Amino acid sequence: MRNLIIKEVNARYALGKSRMRELNYIFNPYSGCLHGCLYCYAIDYSNNAISGNWGNTIYVKINIIDLLKKEINKKIRGIVGISSITDPYMAIEAQYRLTRNAIDILYKNGFYVTVQTKSPLILRDLDILHHNNIDAGITVTTLNKKTSDLIEPYAPSPISRMNTLIKLKNNNIKTWLFLGPIIRNINDDISNIEDIIKFAAEYNIRIIYDKYNNYNGSSKYMENVNYLLSDNKWWNNIEKNIIKLCNEYNVECTDENKEKEYEMNKIQKKLF
Ligand code: SF4
Repeated sequence: MRNLIIKEVNARYALGKSRMRELNYIFNPYSGCLHGCLYCYAIDYSNNAISGNWGNTIYVKINIIDLLKKEINKKIRGIVGISSITDPYMAIEAQYRLTRNAIDILYKNGFYVTVQTKSPLILRDLDILHHNNIDAGITVTTLNKKTSDLIEPYAPSPISRMNTLIKLKNNNIKTWLFLGPIIRNINDDISNIEDIIKFAAEYNIRIIYDKYNNYNGSSKYMENVNYLLSDNKWWNNIEKNIIKLCNEYNVECTDENKEKEYEMNKIQKKLF
């Protein structure tokens, strides 16, 4: 039985400066994440109350929409990522609607929005996501539910995420699949990767992939999981196989660090 702590707090700002080069701003409506993924790098970027009780303590930034409305008048238009240290469509978003309200404000005011989640709750917002200045990605780490339960204990199942992607695609939302993080000895089995690529091929969905980075906070939660640290030899081999399979199945497949930036540059040139 989970003992959840949901605390309403006041944020100091709405649009943060992004550390990711392909984004101009980051919008995080919540701190902490109910999905509780053991590999999550956000553990390192959360306060002790949240990181020490990862997955079970959430702060809701109750004033963030008011802040956003004020800030957008002063900000140069750009690309906003939603979000980097929480899942913007975790279950409590059904009640608070901070993600929905933010997307609505941002695209109507000339910002480009890119949103990433593991949750089917995103389908609630199909009516606004179809706008040309918005894309939506779904993370799929594995098609094996047992593996997912091990590393993403409270996240929606792989099948639920795939169905969500199909619905986004069928509703003409610009979408992509994030294949990652790929963790050595956990979800790096080539048949698992091939099944995800085959799925993406069937629905003509672009893939962005990345490996697990061993952050301090997550490595503590990962202690009991039988993973191995990545090294260049292992990753080069995995990447070579991903590229080969993507070519075979004719899937657009790009590395998180290199090609996403390239894509976003294209968007920026068109919009701003
Ligand atoms: S869903 Fe994303 S933000 Fe939430 S715990 Fe998992 S990796 Fe972290």
